[in-house]
Amino acid sequence: MTKFKAAALVEPGKFEIFEFPPVPVQDGGIRVKVKTGGICGSDLHFWRGELKPILSPGAKPGPVVLGHELAGVVEEKGKDISTDSLGQVLQEGDRVVFPYYFPCHRCYNCLKGEFNHCPTRFRFRGSIYDVPYCNGGFAEYFYLWPGHFVFKVPEILSNEVVAGVNCALSQVIYGWKIGGISIGDRVVVQGAGGLGIYATAAAREMGASEVIVIDGQKERLELAKQCGATQTIDINDVPSVESRVECVKDLTMGRGGDIVMEVVGYPQVVNEGIQMVRRGGAYVEVGNIWDNSNVTLDMSKIIWGQVKIIPAAHYTPETLPIALDFLVAIKDKYPLGNIMSNTYPLEKINEAFTESDWLGKKEGSSNMRSFIVME
Ligand SMILES: [Zn+2]
Ligand SMILES: [Zn+2]
Repeated sequence: MTKFKAAALVEPGKFEIFEFPPVPVQDGGIRVKVKTGGICGSDLHFWRGELKPILSPGAKPGPVVLGHELAGVVEEKGKDISTDSLGQVLQEGDRVVFPYYFPCHRCYNCLKGEFNHCPTRFRFRGSIYDVPYCNGGFAEYFYLWPGHFVFKVPEILSNEVVAGVNCALSQVIYGWKIGGISIGDRVVVQGAGGLGIYATAAAREMGASEVIVIDGQKERLELAKQCGATQTIDINDVPSVESRVECVKDLTMGRGGDIVMEVVGYPQVVNEGIQMVRRGGAYVEVGNIWDNSNVTLDMSKIIWGQVKIIPAAHYTPETLPIALDFLVAIKDKYPLGNIMSNTYPLEKINEAFTESDWLGKKEGSSNMRSFIVME
């Protein structure tokens, strides 16, 4: 096996491509050849320097290989591995998805089965000085440590559709689940980027009778309609917070949404979203992941409205096969592959981030999500 390439963030705004020695495979381990790595909003926060990667205990400080919204193919596996985490036969060459975080199995949260709350050995196992065991998605290889959860991808699914499973799609399915979604619910999605489009389709398939999607870009709202939105609110047409809250009330028989999910990523939208929740409903917070996402809340309104605020950081491992089944079920129903709006080779990663950042802020841009696609 020859050396492999990986893009590490050497300083805010700058990736460099490094070459590393071949990844050896231990018993129980799997070397995955990465096919696609999505540029998630959290990657952009790291790239801008707004978030700092937290490494595992004992890792050597240094530049980190980013990227976690990835899918790939089993290239080599430990001799003792014959199945995936659902007991399906797993062979070299099979496409797989897996959690991008690594529960330690040695902490109170792991003991309680709360793998997505594990505080250690989380997303970044190490820096480039800990490679060859690469745990970043913007690389030719990703290493699954012994005992890690892994799920075979059904052949019927295209690479474009599978690309967003790890992170975006699983995150919103998990968010609706812990928000308590049930048949007939009227829900609201704040933001129609990649997460918002997945959230829309997932809410419909999880039983929502009304999915109201709010955004400021017509192309995104159009895709939201194709992916299950029953109503859309363009903030350009309904410019005040009060009028948007009224609009949601009108569309929910005067009550407000059973669940409102925030996938905009700006704290400014939180108070608006909470006002859209019905009495006793839930506000699922997904997007405001970086430091100092400060919000001033009138707690009396939360208490008297009995609004539950539910944070959703990291999906649970069992969400991944649910997301795959969901994609099979809706394959010909919603054009979720359209979320993959731009693709770049690994060598153009700096360009990919600069353009994603710019497109995310540009008025009228329909950019959903950019992906690094490996050769
Ligand atoms: Zn992500
Ligand atoms: Zn743990």
